[in-house]
Amino acid sequence: MRLEHDLAIRRAVGSILSDDSALGVGTGWHRIVGRALSEIREAADEAGVHIAITHVESRRGSLVIRTDALARRVPTAVADAISEVWLHASDRAGMTCEQCGALGFLINGDEPRVRCARCESEQAARDAVRQGFREQIAEACRYCIGVCLEHGRLLPVENVVIQVAPMDETGHRFFLDEVHERLCWWRAGSWIEGVDEALRTRFRKMDFHRVQATAEEWSIARVLFPEDFREADARNALIEDQRTRRAGEIRSAALAYVRACARERRVLGLEDFGQRRWPRDGAVKRKIMIDALHDDIASGVPVMDVWQRFEVSGTIARRLVGASSYGNLYRILRDNEMPVAFRPGDIARWVHDGKLRREEGMDILGIESGPAFDAFLAAWLAGEQ
Ligand SMILES: [Zn+2]
Repeated sequence: MRLEHDLAIRRAVGSILSDDSALGVGTGWHRIVGRALSEIREAADEAGVHIAITHVESRRGSLVIRTDALARRVPTAVADAISEVWLHASDRAGMTCEQCGALGFLINGDEPRVRCARCESEQAARDAVRQGFREQIAEACRYCIGVCLEHGRLLPVENVVIQVAPMDETGHRFFLDEVHERLCWWRAGSWIEGVDEALRTRFRKMDFHRVQATAEEWSIARVLFPEDFREADARNALIEDQRTRRAGEIRSAALAYVRACARERRVLGLEDFGQRRWPRDGAVKRKIMIDALHDDIASGVPVMDVWQRFEVSGTIARRLVGASSYGNLYRILRDNEMPVAFRPGDIARWVHDGKLRREEGMDILGIESGPAFDAFLAAWLAGEQ
């Protein structure tokens, strides 16, 4: 797999593919694998379950994709949907050259593989480069990793690796393919002689410098390929329309959701909540509404609103907005210029004066440990005197 294809797939499906899992297939299958993993992620997201891809491999000419869906005991419908995606991808892989992505056929033999006629005719020469230049390939990988780390970003392998004499252009192409392959595997955790394993973490954080298309380039692309934009435009227009026209509905759903979490004293699944909230909408509109609900909760505004009315505990509020302390909750209030109904000092004084029970004070700020709350009281009361 070429490094840029490997990274493109990881960017698209990062949440279900860990850096330790290699994409063990040839670059000719990158579109098939990328699409299959995206569909698997969508199936899991739609069902509100989290799964991980545990294995992607080309084995004896077949595409193998494994997940931990069974181990996690996901609902049968989800497991079936995942198998379906894999079978479909595997069918396509069976007639796609694993090397170049052209129409291919299964070549039987000691090592069954799917190849087009051209790639198959090159296979022996390719193997010869792999075996004959082992050391030079490792050396090129070491050099690539070093140069990229020095620049703080990935550079195209082609620009970094010079031709090793005496090799013709085709040989060099095989050589580069091999460097790509080894770098992808190394990134996922395999070993290259002479490369410090400790560099891997930094390497994983780097990406190619991608150039953003200008507005002008986009408008040219729109004229040339209108059909590519039509679907996306329609979808964006619908999202915009729903979010604007139903903003009030989204906000009241968000407030209701926070209160439901408060009642049950836990963070409820947003997806389930949305499914029940908008039963009459079709799947597409419902997804738009659930996404909007998700964004509204993440903004913190509805959560802070309910919290400042004493209707949800600080612990739940913090978990809903991902705040590590009550201080961060106040930061959200400030950033959104929201009115403040009670400050930490108010809580300390009310508890001290017996207007608020100690447990209530702990609960509303989300301070779970007794000693921590004592320290909180001492600090605020000392500050007042
Ligand atoms: Zn081919």
